[in-house]
Amino acid sequence: MDNATNQLSSDEIQKRMQLIKENCIFCKIVNGEIPAKKIHEDSEFLAFLDINPITKGHTILIPKEHYMMMAFVPDEVLGRIQVLAKQLSELLIKSLNANDVALIIANGQAAGQQIQHFAIHLIPRYEGDNFKLNLEGEKRDEEELKEIKDKLLEKLQGAV
Ligand SMILES: [Zn+2]
Repeated sequence: MDNATNQLSSDEIQKRMQLIKENCIFCKIVNGEIPAKKIHEDSEFLAFLDINPITKGHTILIPKEHYMMMAFVPDEVLGRIQVLAKQLSELLIKSLNANDVALIIANGQAAGQQIQHFAIHLIPRYEGDNFKLNLEGEKRDEEELKEIKDKLLEKLQGAV
């Protein structure tokens, strides 16, 4: 069995990445193939209005570079995009009289990510809007929480 059949050459990886970018809706917005209502653009990031907004002013903020999900975004880029998210949140509140803004990263398909290009959703919240964001779960017992904590710390210590 030829080992090479299981391993992609860097040429092949490049080709596949190119194909992913060519088919990515957000990349198409970045390169102007699909129009969007842009509210911020610089050399690195783009923010535009969601065409199916959850609330008025629902904005999608993306790095122009195609990163599939958070794990692939370099730390410095993540830092800068969060600062921009903070500024845009203020803009949404002031301009649209929103009460607050929910910042949501659907990181991966199981987390609700629909387009495989990392994005931060900025969702302005208004009195009586219909967006149900419920972060309240059910009370769990001490033992279960301790078990989870131990499991996480064990991994953390193993990683250092
Ligand atoms: Zn993309």
